[in-house]
Amino acid sequence: MAPPPTSVLHASLTLPPPTITHASGHYLHPSPGPPILDASGGAAVSCIGHSHPRIHTAISAQLDSCEYAFAPHFSTPAYERLASFLCSSTNGAMKKVFVTGSGAEAVEAAVKMARQYFVEKGEGGTRTRFIARQRSYHGNTLGALDVSGHAARRAIYEPLLSGKTSHVSPCYPYREKRVAETDEAYVDRLAQELDDEFHRVGADTVCAVILETMAGLTLGAVAPLQGYLAKMKEVCERHGALFVLDEVFAGMGRTGYLHAWQAEGVTPDLMTVAKGLGGGYVPIGALMVSPKVVEVLGRGSGAFVHFQTYHGHPVACAAAYEVQQVIKDEGLVENCRVMGEYLGERLRARLGGHPNVGDIRGRGLAWALELVKDKTTKEPFPVAQKVAPTIHAAGLQKFEIAVLPGGGVVDGVNGDLIVLAPAYNVTREDVDLIVQRTAKAIEHVLGGAPTAKI
Ligand code: PMP
Repeated sequence: MAPPPTSVLHASLTLPPPTITHASGHYLHPSPGPPILDASGGAAVSCIGHSHPRIHTAISAQLDSCEYAFAPHFSTPAYERLASFLCSSTNGAMKKVFVTGSGAEAVEAAVKMARQYFVEKGEGGTRTRFIARQRSYHGNTLGALDVSGHAARRAIYEPLLSGKTSHVSPCYPYREKRVAETDEAYVDRLAQELDDEFHRVGADTVCAVILETMAGLTLGAVAPLQGYLAKMKEVCERHGALFVLDEVFAGMGRTGYLHAWQAEGVTPDLMTVAKGLGGGYVPIGALMVSPKVVEVLGRGSGAFVHFQTYHGHPVACAAAYEVQQVIKDEGLVENCRVMGEYLGERLRARLGGHPNVGDIRGRGLAWALELVKDKTTKEPFPVAQKVAPTIHAAGLQKFEIAVLPGGGVVDGVNGDLIVLAPAYNVTREDVDLIVQRTAKAIEHVLGGAPTAKI
């Protein structure tokens, strides 16, 4: 059937995707077609499900009082309330908040804030470099892409980018921990690599190290090993650079902690959040700033030299604040932890024995299946086979489920990932259905009989 004509410039797709005419709870309703179970909340965004009545009420109340005020010149109760909620949620680890329109804008703000911090400390001329991780993703705007370790997404823009970022190995035990290496020895090796990188580029030229607290869509729900964040921060502090955690994917409850760093209590100097902040009801992200950085900004110009027409948008702030109240009132961070364990258990029971499911990993309600051609050698499927996108398409077309295909060729390594990141308020029945339909889509594309009935 010929695709319908469209004036929308779709990203990376040759055919227009299905049109969703409405959405409610955990279901997307395309036209035409049956309802689709939303097992990934888009890109791990819809954290309280679709069409929650409390968010409708909060948005319309804000529209009735003040739909817009230019944030560099005016504040609003909506912006103040959200910022104060976010700071208090960190027990004092963060003191100020700058609300943006997306995750990438929050990362851009973090990168600029880190530079301004050293300019005001009198080291602006020297501390201009960033260290990030290979196969990381921090956003598609040019600054955020510059710090991302995703060579394929950076490639065609390279001459426009600063070239001031270098990349170290991520914490990725499935492929990169050596046989017989303990977790502790692996973490020490990664910290040593970071230390070596500081020395290689000139330790006093580095402005900040930026990491995703939990690797999201490019590496596939890889939680940090115990001790990893603490050791990375220790190296960073030893060389006087800022420690930045990007929690755009992992933050605001997704991992079973409101902030993913709270699992180990390793606090960042700057942090970013986005997806679970607004739950998809509004485009929003935020940069959160620690007292250590705020203090230096105060000594200099006293302000962040950065603003945008729509930053701190009151409707976005009001919606995000209400999303956070729903998460709190309905005990959804705890539900993420409990349902996350159940999801992991069911995935292992149903798909652990599948010959092409190399790894099943996750934390909270962020899980990934890494699919391989050969489970023993971990050899990936050939790129041309497009395994993850084909499973995604089969899920949509035949099994009424939306999963997130991840991986692709990143830094020369092909990987096929199926990422599951359902809403925080899923029940055991929802989880059972997610596992059942995901397994059917995988078995449809790759074959393989179920190892257990659920
Ligand atoms: N950082 C991380 C860790 C992300 O996962 C993403 C989005 N996938 C971004 C930044 C960019 O966010 P956005 O798409 O909202 O710009």
